[in-house]
Amino acid sequence: MRLSKMHINTLREAPAEAEIPSHIWLLRSGMIRKLASGVYGFMPMGYRSVRKIEEIVRNEMDAKGALEIHMSAIQPAELWMESGRWYVMGPEMWRVKDRRGREFCLGPTHEEIFTDIVRNEVSSYRQLPLNLYQIQTKYRDEARPRFGLMRSREFVMKDAYSFDRDEAGLDKSYMDMFDAYTNIFKRCGLTFRPVEADSGAMGGSGSHEFTALSEVGESEIAYCECCDMAATTERAFTVDAEAGAEAELELETVYTPNVKTIEDVSAYLGLPKEKTIKALLMAVYEDDGTVREYVAAFVRGDRELNMTKLVNVLGVPEHMVDFADENEMHGKTGSVGGFTGPAGLKNCRIVVDSELPGLRNMCAGACKQDHHIINMNYGRDYKADIITDIKKVREGDACCKCGAPVKLARGIEVGQVFKLGTKYSKSMGACYKDENMQEHLLLMGSYGVGVTRTLAAVVEQHHDERGIIWPVSVAPYQVIVTIVKSDETEQRELAEKIYQSLLDKGIEALLDDRDERAGVKFMDADILGIPVRITVGKKAASGLVEYKLRRESEFTEKSGEEAVSAAAAFIESELRSLI
Ligand SMILES: [Zn+2]
Repeated sequence: MRLSKMHINTLREAPAEAEIPSHIWLLRSGMIRKLASGVYGFMPMGYRSVRKIEEIVRNEMDAKGALEIHMSAIQPAELWMESGRWYVMGPEMWRVKDRRGREFCLGPTHEEIFTDIVRNEVSSYRQLPLNLYQIQTKYRDEARPRFGLMRSREFVMKDAYSFDRDEAGLDKSYMDMFDAYTNIFKRCGLTFRPVEADSGAMGGSGSHEFTALSEVGESEIAYCECCDMAATTERAFTVDAEAGAEAELELETVYTPNVKTIEDVSAYLGLPKEKTIKALLMAVYEDDGTVREYVAAFVRGDRELNMTKLVNVLGVPEHMVDFADENEMHGKTGSVGGFTGPAGLKNCRIVVDSELPGLRNMCAGACKQDHHIINMNYGRDYKADIITDIKKVREGDACCKCGAPVKLARGIEVGQVFKLGTKYSKSMGACYKDENMQEHLLLMGSYGVGVTRTLAAVVEQHHDERGIIWPVSVAPYQVIVTIVKSDETEQRELAEKIYQSLLDKGIEALLDDRDERAGVKFMDADILGIPVRITVGKKAASGLVEYKLRRESEFTEKSGEEAVSAAAAFIESELRSLI
């Protein structure tokens, strides 16, 4: 492609709202353009990279025998009502009505639709196993869309759904997808980790998240360097320390005027935060805003509550749980803002973190204005309705598998695989008949790759202060031939020759034949992140060019032919190294 015929429009500066490198560079390179908050369009260069990722995904899915189909993004509400999720999905689900008032959603995912297709299409064990996938646009009405393609309201996703006759079949389908995902992200040039994940609103029995490591990622993962433990922090749990041998001291109520936060209590009473109990007052809300029940969650004072774990314990959708209005709660439960403890509460569910019962002589609110209680011990002084792990894992906590200190890292969730089991086949009646004509529920798995988010993750991991540095596999073009002075015949002729032999070798090449200053051309090539640049300048007369990799700062001088062979060899070895 000749740049004189291509539309590119690089920006010297990114719009102020772009905070992270991938957002900045995708905008500055002109690969994406914003249409509305969280809604982006892809320009020619950007769309080429999207299609490259799609092709890698397609290739790996096909290799596992999955079959590509294409379903509508518009989904009738009835199917979501059948599965029950119409009522469970929060306001992120984009609900629409047609002119007759019939309800639909713009699909955030497609479990219901694929289950519906399969229950109509599949009747016998002979048609199994079946894995159907699509690469399609998804919608999620995010409360705070940000970071460009990272958290957008419209995005391209590959979603696949497997249907098996038994657990063994599901295990195999799941492992096949796990392998396919490992290959996909490797081929895209990402540094990533598959980690155990919470299955959340999807339901089901097992899940892994594929996390591209990045400081700006919104996923936090915990992993162990001594064993294979790796999980999202939503999911990760650790071993609670053994109960100390400390003797139980006498319970005492102390006057703590206006001392409300853990910091204040710790300072006022001269206690380490580890000796205090933090109260988190929550409510389960109905859709109309009324309170279904109050919940008081307690964790050690220096800890944080893990909402995902709490929501799982309560068995309600996440959007129904929120912090409670302490004043409203007071009359019913006896809680006192800033002074609530596990003793003295009524009409509310008390959930205590698994660590607390082992801890002696703790300090907590007294459920009385300006008072705390010290020397509280579980069993003697307070009880729980539920004792379970509801804390956020921290760096240095003991690994649940081997006890070594856990490490934390941040990442971008680029894919997730779920074992759904019979969750959808049961609620929607998706069955098959076995050899004896006996009917059974289908076992399902669902598997997603965020295609456009993967694009952003690649940029996040591959850029410098001058622009993107695409891995060859997803670069919009592999080589750019830059003519320093387009009006010099010798330069133009040599560049044309090089460009042509690159094309003859099947290399995706750009020829920068624009009537621009060399500086502008170099800057654009760097922003666009084309992996190889061949610069044809003053030495064209003697057949010499500059050969430079985008990721390196130095160039080497080569003949035109040598530069073409070097580019071909580089591309081949790069692509091979990603397999
Ligand atoms: Zn470990």
